[in-house]
Amino acid sequence: MKSSRFNVVSEHPKTGETILFNTLYGSITVWDKSGFRMVKQLLDKPDTIINDKVIKIIMSHLVDGKYIINDDVDEIKVVENRKILGMKDENRLDVIIMPNMTCNFACPYCYESHIPSSFMSDETDEAIKRWLVDQVPKFKVLILNWFGGEPLLSFERIISIGKFVKDICNNHDIGFMTNITTNGYLFNEQRIKELIAIGIFSYQITVDGPPEIHNKTRILRDGKDSFRKIFENILLLVRANKKVRISLRVNFNHNNIYAIPELLKLFPEDIRPSLSVVYEPIFGKKCFSATKNISSEEISSKIVDYYHLAQQMGYDVTLESIGIGKLVYCYAERENQFIINYNGDVFKCSVGFNPEERFGYLSSEGRVILNEKQWNKWFRMDLFEQKCYSCKFLPLCMGGCRKTRIENANTGSFCSLVPTNTSFALKAVAFDKFEEILQNQYNVYVQ
Ligand code: SF4
Ligand code: SF4
Repeated sequence: MKSSRFNVVSEHPKTGETILFNTLYGSITVWDKSGFRMVKQLLDKPDTIINDKVIKIIMSHLVDGKYIINDDVDEIKVVENRKILGMKDENRLDVIIMPNMTCNFACPYCYESHIPSSFMSDETDEAIKRWLVDQVPKFKVLILNWFGGEPLLSFERIISIGKFVKDICNNHDIGFMTNITTNGYLFNEQRIKELIAIGIFSYQITVDGPPEIHNKTRILRDGKDSFRKIFENILLLVRANKKVRISLRVNFNHNNIYAIPELLKLFPEDIRPSLSVVYEPIFGKKCFSATKNISSEEISSKIVDYYHLAQQMGYDVTLESIGIGKLVYCYAERENQFIINYNGDVFKCSVGFNPEERFGYLSSEGRVILNEKQWNKWFRMDLFEQKCYSCKFLPLCMGGCRKTRIENANTGSFCSLVPTNTSFALKAVAFDKFEEILQNQYNVYVQ
């Protein structure tokens, strides 16, 4: 027998108890001091011959939880296989469509370069539909995300393509999940009805704080405030259909992090269960950056507190969970994932849409013509960096951001759990708050 290489031990600073967590299998146990002394001995020497009844029970618990495993189990192979499975998954097609690359907002921290006239043409719309007719029936599930720019500036386009693709899925009995990331300004009752009719029940909308805070960063292009309209639209959306779920995103930095509790108080209690709160640190320039202006300890302690507060207030806090069994770091690692830009350019990663970063383009016949060099650069890298092979968090992280890995090749500075697409729990790991998350998520005690 041997100890799993993915056991994480963490002492709770307040209670002195020890949390034993396995990042590969998700097993977790909390031990008091004397219990953990025996656990530690067994983990250090799993082949010890045991006569004592209590130690036998503890050993059997450690084997059940796979903290101690058979010598022939190759845990690295298990993780590698998971990753290959995720990258080559032939069951699901992930598509992000950007119907434009312009916006009615002028948020000072936005990283996108907007182009005022960048709207999808009828030709690209037709090419997308041809591609979808050809591709979608090959899969069991289609996951379609609308992104921009501000996608609702292209409302008719969304309805047209959305209805088209929903019909393909219905006709071929293919699972269909669709959602939209929007600033939340351009809704009205009629639009909400039409979006729900094409199956969009999932919305991501950003609100950066109560009105006086939000209106400083989420500014309309003409300089006007946006809070009131967005707030009313969120109420309209949630009350339009009980299946609607909104991911309420708060982009925070040193200027607004303390205002999050005020924001949470504003939404009426009846809609809170439909709002899933997500706090995201702002990156980029020093004057906007959360991480360059607030210590990671303070960020971690605040976001942990604010997630708990949101939960107590009746919000949906699903991001609190630790994702066990993750297959890839982010969607861009999946081979059957494509971002189609308004002009038919094809990308993998949603951070950066420079022409030189494109992976190919959509031809007018509806075929994705790939740039093989770019594709190979993205996929023919090692599954994991050397450093990841000795990292206990590998099964939770799955190797870090591929874009950063390429950009920072061989510099060893690719490991950044925080920036994008990470759950609250992973951020907490990055910010050294792991034990609090575990303690709150599970309550498993062994006497
Ligand atoms: S990217 Fe960092 S956290 Fe993720 S597995 Fe690699 S070393 Fe670990
Ligand atoms: S920046 Fe990294 S994590 Fe984000 S979408 Fe691109 S590859 Fe994925």
